[in-house]
Amino acid sequence: MKIAILPGDGIGTEIVAEAVKVLDVLGLNYESETANVGGAAYESHGHPLPESTLKIAQEADAILFGAVGDWKYDKLDRPLRPEQAILGLRKNLGLFANFRPAICYEQLVNASSLKPELVAGLDILIIRELTGDIYFGQPRGRRSSPDGHFPGAEEAFDTMRYSRPEIERIAHVAFQAARKRKAAGTEGRVTSVDKANVLETFQFWKDVVSEVGLQYPDIALDHMYVDNAAMQLVKEPKRFDVVVTGNMFGDILSDEASMLTGSIGMLPSASLNSKNQGLYEPSHGSAPDIAGKGIANPLATILSAAMMLRFSLNQPEAAERIEVAVKKVLAQGLRTADIYSAGTTKVSTREMGDAVVKALA
Ligand code: NAD
Repeated sequence: MKIAILPGDGIGTEIVAEAVKVLDVLGLNYESETANVGGAAYESHGHPLPESTLKIAQEADAILFGAVGDWKYDKLDRPLRPEQAILGLRKNLGLFANFRPAICYEQLVNASSLKPELVAGLDILIIRELTGDIYFGQPRGRRSSPDGHFPGAEEAFDTMRYSRPEIERIAHVAFQAARKRKAAGTEGRVTSVDKANVLETFQFWKDVVSEVGLQYPDIALDHMYVDNAAMQLVKEPKRFDVVVTGNMFGDILSDEASMLTGSIGMLPSASLNSKNQGLYEPSHGSAPDIAGKGIANPLATILSAAMMLRFSLNQPEAAERIEVAVKKVLAQGLRTADIYSAGTTKVSTREMGDAVVKALA
């Protein structure tokens, strides 16, 4: 097992260190290589995704990624900004399927901004297509200045586009995930989210997902407009099982879903290609506002490492051990600041990592 470790910027280095600590006590036989990415790589190599980092990522079975970005890079030309590293890794490794489970842990029911009865027992999976849609559409409106801004411009445009194979492969991923979850006791439903009433691209999306759905008669399929989905996620989130959607809607809805669980600091994610090679990262960003303070929640990254063991490294027992250990520390009342509430014990990033290590032991 070869793992590329790319901590990145801001809290990335702090939270990845805790996840590595957890991986190290599992007694697995893995090789790892650490490299700079994002702003850190721009500083060391002049590019957010240097060739050397890309090579390490390509040769690994899995990538454990922290986060990239900092406001100080906002004036850079777009291709040199830290966030381009993620787009580059997705493109180069063909990572097309982003899995974001939104699970509300029993102990954190009160940390959600919704009423406890709406989120207690919540366990939904949002699957976002990552390589198409308006984020990669051509043509795009040309920038009128090298720093990516538009002084005096009259117009800008991006093109929304999806191909049949792109929609088919993500639809298969969603139906297969729903089937696996059904075997473990969920309803067996895929909700495809679109904007077919306004956008041609998403009428096409809806038609192709429906065609693929005919191959999965055991899984229920429904379709929902994205505006309604945004509303239903906060009105009745437990009505969903697996949600599949395009790149932009998935970007927005998965962040919305993250808040159902209490904090974005709790949410892991996986981005997979067709060979099950994957990039595993917390759903949140580099949080420059709290970087270096030792207060970031490392659990999303630790749970991302668990997803890595399950999806790319074929170590489901080790994955489960981590997940059980996380539940255990939450049951002990340990909380980083983002999930802290009266009556619990506030701990630092490092103390939370240590507690998970101890729970594993
Ligand atoms: P963010 O997710 O970094 O932070 C949003 C809020 O959540 C902040 O208040 C932050 O303090 C808090 N937060 C995030 N993670 C936390 C954690 N583990 N524990 C406790 N609190 C946490 O989003 P942002 O502020 O919009 O973006 C900051 C930078 O991150 C930007 O440069 C952005 O482009 C980048 N970004 C990177 C990724 C990525 O690397 N995949 C994703 C999103 C944003």
